[in-house]
Amino acid sequence: MPRDIRSLTREELAGLFEEWKQPGYRVDQLLHWLHARRAVHWGTMTNLPKALRQQLSAHFLLQPLELFHKQGSRDSTQKFLWRLSDGAFVESVLIPANPALYGEASDRHTLCVSTQVGCAYGCKFCASGLDGWKRNLTAAEIIDQVYGVERWNAGESQSGAQPPTEHATRNTPEAPRLINNLVIMGMGEPLANYDHLLAALRILNAPWGGGIGARKITVSTSGLAPQIRKLADDPMQLRLAVSLHGATDAVRERLMPVNRKYPLKELLAACDYYQKRKGRMITFEYILIAGVNDSLDQAPPLAELSKRLHAKVNLIPYNTVEGLPWHRPAESVCQAFVTALERRGVTATLRREKGHDIDAACGQLRLRTERGTQATQG
Ligand code: SAH
Ligand code: SF4
Repeated sequence: MPRDIRSLTREELAGLFEEWKQPGYRVDQLLHWLHARRAVHWGTMTNLPKALRQQLSAHFLLQPLELFHKQGSRDSTQKFLWRLSDGAFVESVLIPANPALYGEASDRHTLCVSTQVGCAYGCKFCASGLDGWKRNLTAAEIIDQVYGVERWNAGESQSGAQPPTEHATRNTPEAPRLINNLVIMGMGEPLANYDHLLAALRILNAPWGGGIGARKITVSTSGLAPQIRKLADDPMQLRLAVSLHGATDAVRERLMPVNRKYPLKELLAACDYYQKRKGRMITFEYILIAGVNDSLDQAPPLAELSKRLHAKVNLIPYNTVEGLPWHRPAESVCQAFVTALERRGVTATLRREKGHDIDAACGQLRLRTERGTQATQG
């Protein structure tokens, strides 16, 4: 299977063009088409010789994601459902004006991207893992979630209306970048697709690529301890968020089967290693689920381990998933929990969920679409 041209690094392209006896400046011309203009047709790259374009198209794919459906909510969080070339679905969520959830400065737009079709980790509360794991996304499929949203945005701002799907995959003129924050929190476990994820993030981070600062990229993991250590040794200064959801093995195990493989002691040692290598704070994600992990007796153990690790805590009221028995606690319960952590000297935030009304929690729109599609296809 040929690779998508957009997953090649500058060095790889330079090596290839040297082999093909192309002048060096062609590399930058091509990169400009692919990453600055987000071109999706070889035919538009008019300053490249036709023979070179033909040679490129014979060796590489240039395959944009198909925007299958877009949902926007009242507060303008927008959800993009993509159909991949094999018919599988993944989703991305665009969140404007992020209120500095992960310590970054206030910004323009954050995109939440997926890294796998489905998820093998089967957390009990999550829609993404309900139908199991199907496959890893390629680096290009991760990159094109960003470029696809930017193409859609450029198309929309030109026409002033929502463009049809076909329009959204056309080339767009050079436009200022829309997305300057990435959270790797969509469907899938990013660190279980380590190589493709890192390849994609290197390109999205490169000045000749997506131009997104590494410090503006947050990778969220359910707690794969060995891969956290590997990421700690990588030179990219990514932010790390760890989905904790339980401050004791007993509570965490009830929600996340991964805790049996990497219990808290092992996970926290890996987090400590990450923190020491990077010299930056990590974030613990803690979903509040009624009657499961929201009682005030969970606040002291959570505060204890957050302080020990110098980590911030991001509390997220649970987003109800159709067919699952879990519920979001009352607002007052969430508020009491955050106060209990703060009293113990923990930096904690309670996420005011944007997009709750459009199923913004990972995997939900895709699950509904896939099941709907399957139902109508019999
Ligand atoms: N697999 C990674 C990243 C994707 S999930 C991880 O688990 O961290 C991103 C975040 O969404 C995780 O913190 C996950 O626990 C949370 N999440 C999943 N389902 C949710 C739901 N229904 N409501 C609120 N948060 C949810
Ligand atoms: Fe997978 Fe993350 Fe969902 Fe767990 S929470 S099933 S790791 S996507």
